[in-house]
Amino acid sequence: MQRVAVLGATGSIGTSALDVIARHPDSLRASVLAAGNKVDALLALCRLHHPEHAVIADTAGYAALRDGLRAAGLQTQAHAGSAALDALVAADACDTVVAAIVGAAGLPSTLAAARAGKRLLLANKESLVLAGELLIEAARTGGARIIPIDSEHNAIFQCLADGNPAARITLTASGGPFRGWTRAQLANVTPAQAVAHPKWSMGPKISVDSASLMNKGLEVIEAHHLFGLPGAQIRVLVHPQSLVHSLVDFVDGSTLAQLGLPDMRTALAVGLGWPQRIASGVAALDLLAQGGKLEFEAPDLAAFPCLTLAFAAMAAGGTAPAVLNAANEEAVSAFLQGRIGFLDIPDAVAAVLDAMPPAPADTLDTLLDADARARALTQARIAQVAS
Ligand code: NAD
Ligand code: MG
Repeated sequence: MQRVAVLGATGSIGTSALDVIARHPDSLRASVLAAGNKVDALLALCRLHHPEHAVIADTAGYAALRDGLRAAGLQTQAHAGSAALDALVAADACDTVVAAIVGAAGLPSTLAAARAGKRLLLANKESLVLAGELLIEAARTGGARIIPIDSEHNAIFQCLADGNPAARITLTASGGPFRGWTRAQLANVTPAQAVAHPKWSMGPKISVDSASLMNKGLEVIEAHHLFGLPGAQIRVLVHPQSLVHSLVDFVDGSTLAQLGLPDMRTALAVGLGWPQRIASGVAALDLLAQGGKLEFEAPDLAAFPCLTLAFAAMAAGGTAPAVLNAANEEAVSAFLQGRIGFLDIPDAVAAVLDAMPPAPADTLDTLLDADARARALTQARIAQVAS
C-alpha cells in the first residue's frame, strides 16, 4: 500500500490527485491531507478519504478542524501550522507526497519531502523557480525521486524514460484566453476574463499566469532545473489544442512527444503508478473527435513580455528567479483583487527585477531574503499604481 500525502488537497491538483487515488483502493491510500485555510472543504475531504492526519496551515482553523473531525466520528488526527505539516511530510505517515500548494508557500513542505527521500510528485513549480538548485540537491542527497506533475514536464519525463539525454525540449503553451490579442487589447481585461482558461481547469493564480504567459516562463525555469538544460536548449511553442503536452528532440533527429486530453489526472497517475501505468479516469485521445488538427505558432513576446522576463531571470541566475517569482505572486494577487491592471503585472515584475540586481544565491536564507524584499518592493509599487 502506497500512503500518499496530498498537500493542497482542496485545490485543483489536490482534487484530481484524490480522484486518481480513490480509483485504486488496493494500492493507494490518502494518509495525509493538508490545506491552507478552508476548514470545511478539508473536513469534507476527510469524510470521503478517511486520512490518518489532516493539517490546516492557518492555525486559526485548528479548533474547527479538530471539532469537525470529532463530530464526524473520524479517527483522523488534526494538526495546524506549516511546521506541523513539514514534520508529517518527513515522518513515516506517507511514502509519497503530492506537492500541490500554490506559490512559494509550498517550498518548506516540498523541501521536507525531498530531504526525507519521499517519492515527490511535484506540481508546485514556484518552489523550483525560487530554490531550484537547493531542491534538486536536497532530493539527490535525501534519495527522493521527483516526478514532475506539471503536464509539460510530465510529458518530457515520459519521453526521457529510456535515459538518453535530450538535445532540446519544446514546452507547449495553450496561449491562454488572450492568444492573438495585442498589448493594447490587454490593457482592460478583467480577472474573470483572465481566469477563464480555454483548455485547462486550474486554480486562479496559475490561470492568470497562463493568461500572461508567466506560467510558461516559470515552466522554462522549472525545466532547466528538472532536466539540467540551459535556456538555449529550451523552446516554447504555442499549441492552441493543448493535446501535445511537450516534445523532446534527440541527437539522431528523432522527436518524441506525449499527447493526451488536457486533464491533470493523467500526469498524477503517471506519478502515482510509475513505472507502471495505472487508470486515471481520463479517456483515450481521439484526434478526430478533437478536430483532427494540431497547430503550432511562435509566442507573441511583445504582447506577453513575462516569458522574456523569465528567460532573462534564468540567464541572470542567483536571486533573479526568486525575485521574478515573488514579484509575480504579489502582482497576480493584486490583479485578482482588482487593485491593478493586467499589464501592471509584467511592468511590476520588470521594475522589481531592475531594482534588485541578481546576487549569488547559495543558501536558502539568501533566497528567502530576496523573496521577502521583492514582495515588499512589489507591494510598494502596487500601492503607487493603485492610488
Ligand atoms: P489551487 O489554488 O486550486 O489550490 C491551492 C491549494 O493550496 C489549496 O488546497 C490551498 O488550500 C492550498 N494552500 C494555499 N496556501 C497554502 C499554505 N500556505 N499552506 C498550505 N496549503 C496552502 O491551485 P492549483 O491550481 O491546484 O495549483 C497548485 C500548484 O500546482 C501550483 O503551484 C500550480 O502552479 C501547480 N500546477 C497546477 C496545475 C493545474 O492544472 N491546476 C497544473 C500544473 C501545475
Ligand atoms: Mg504546465
